Amino acid sequence: MDFNLSEEQRMWQKAVHDFVAAEVRPKAREVDATSEFNWPAVRKMGPLGLLGLTVPEDYGGSGVDAISMAIAIQELGWGCGSTALAIAAHNGLGCAPIARFGTQEQKTKFLPGVTSGKNRLAALALTEPGAGSDLQGGVRTKAEKAGGEWIINGSKAWITNASVADYIITLVRTDPRGGSHSLSMIIVPADTPGLTIHLPEKKMGLNGSQTNALTFENVRAPLGNLLGEEGHGLRQTFATLDGGRISIGALSIGLAQAAFELARDYARERQAFGKPIAEQQAIQWMLADMATQIEAARWMVYHAAWLKQEGRPFGQPAAMAKLFATEMAEHACRDAIQIHGGYGYSREYEVERLYRDARLMTIGEGTSEIQRLVIARHVLAQE
Ligand SMILES: Cc1cc2nc3c(=O)[nH]c(=O)nc-3n(C[C@H](O)[C@H](O)[C@H](O)COP(=O)(O)OP(=O)(O)OC[C@H]3O[C@@H](n4cnc5c(N)ncnc54)[C@H](O)[C@@H]3O)c2cc1C
Repeated sequence: MDFNLSEEQRMWQKAVHDFVAAEVRPKAREVDATSEFNWPAVRKMGPLGLLGLTVPEDYGGSGVDAISMAIAIQELGWGCGSTALAIAAHNGLGCAPIARFGTQEQKTKFLPGVTSGKNRLAALALTEPGAGSDLQGGVRTKAEKAGGEWIINGSKAWITNASVADYIITLVRTDPRGGSHSLSMIIVPADTPGLTIHLPEKKMGLNGSQTNALTFENVRAPLGNLLGEEGHGLRQTFATLDGGRISIGALSIGLAQAAFELARDYARERQAFGKPIAEQQAIQWMLADMATQIEAARWMVYHAAWLKQEGRPFGQPAAMAKLFATEMAEHACRDAIQIHGGYGYSREYEVERLYRDARLMTIGEGTSEIQRLVIARHVLAQE
């Protein structure tokens, strides 16, 4: 199935696939076991354009179309969930807001470094210990103007790439009265005094992707580091997450595809009752369902991406694609373990890692419940 991909998109897919097969997939087990970030592969991604997917060429990016971005994240997900999450967050959360809302000066200052692969990456800090789904009501990290600077105080939680980032775009409350215009985004260089990036969280999966809590104690940032206009932070967050959902959907397809391929190959090899288990109808049905649902998810993700690149509304299709693809991936990885029998439960076989990695996808960048909320609001507003 190629979703009528253009020749250019097909060539891109092959180039990314070959790179991932050579540099990313062989290290997936190791980065999970050691929790080490795969810097050697990430360094090579700069020249390939994988670190500037949402960034125009003028600022060092590859500025690919939204379907090509989904293709890239999907291929990375097929290779290694941890590395894919880091690169998806870097592009969709760390770079996209500056590319979209930043001034020319901010783009020139912050983007070329993080897209090159020579420096570090980028992160976006929305979530706090007391605020995840409800950012509008829950964000307590505040920024006040004093002496021609922003002074930031508060804490953030679960921030992907924080400890491998050059800068962290931080959602802060700039109007203590609250409301939908009380939040803003500020670009904070990661080495700013007063910013503490805590040790990586110990997670169930995705161990090669660094996730950190942050503390801001009188962190000073120039007024010019405000992204877009003051009070537009919530709107910028929603716009950023709409795009991020396509990426998480794509990543989930990659994980499911990897699980499917492993399960199919295992079913052909494993003998029970005198024949390969692939000849048992129960196993065939699981494989058929996996293949069908992966295909459906891919169409949904590509469709949302296509709407995005056409400049058409894509919030609802992106939420639907994220909801379907992430829940599909969890189920596909579950079935892949089932097909492997007892071996599927062993650390020696890759499907258990895929299952642990897939589990995050229904939570990060908006939980399944929040996707359903978004979808319900859209469908209820329709005639
Ligand atoms: C590995 C990892 C990486 C992450 N990376 C980042 C990152 O880079 N940047 C960042 O800012 N955040 C990041 N996050 C945070 C992530 O986005 C949040 O965990 C997620 O948005 C959910 O927020 P919460 O954990 O506070 O859960 P809560 O909002 O407390 O939700 C708890 C439960 O209640 C449900 N719920 C909440 N409100 C409603 C409602 N109105 N209706 C129905 N159900 C509801 C939720 O769906 C969920 O099931 C990451 C998290 C993880 C685990």
